[in-house]
Amino acid sequence: MSRKLYSGRLVDVSFDGEICEHSGVCVRGLPEVFNVNERPWINPDGAWSPEGAQLLIDVVGRCPSGALKIERPEQLPRVEEDSVGVTDNPARHRYEVRLDGELAGFAVYTLSEGLITFTHTEIDPAFEGRGAGSALVRAALDDVRAKGERKVLPLCPFVKGWIRRHPGYDELLYR
Ligand code: SF4
Repeated sequence: MSRKLYSGRLVDVSFDGEICEHSGVCVRGLPEVFNVNERPWINPDGAWSPEGAQLLIDVVGRCPSGALKIERPEQLPRVEEDSVGVTDNPARHRYEVRLDGELAGFAVYTLSEGLITFTHTEIDPAFEGRGAGSALVRAALDDVRAKGERKVLPLCPFVKGWIRRHPGYDELLYR
């Protein structure tokens, strides 16, 4: 048994080198955490940001071999689906996410003919690590898709990264 534990502030990750298939999903998905040129090569706090812990969980969940696992996930307060609300606020040019009714963050956009440009996403630090950012981007993009009027230009790095990690949403991109 060669499983080794890497501890972070919110999330611990374990890795079993004997079953790793070297797919590269981890290093491509979150190079801030998985870097074979660093020691240790897994740093769960490397992506520390409002959404870092959630991104890490997403990437580990895509490890095809099971070499990577999230440990003590109960440490991370998860958002119940019905406590999250995402709405478009056209007057302020932004999608807003609420957790338990409280404004947790927003994604700002500009509109032009056939195009919605996401310029900036912000999550209140008080809600960090609860998946609000991911829920926000997903719902905003689902709304854009449902309306069918515009392509997406993600100037905001968070929206851009989210789309990169969620195949199926890249068809919305403006090319
Ligand atoms: S994603 Fe999993 S299988 Fe692929 S390189 Fe990373 S640890 Fe190995």
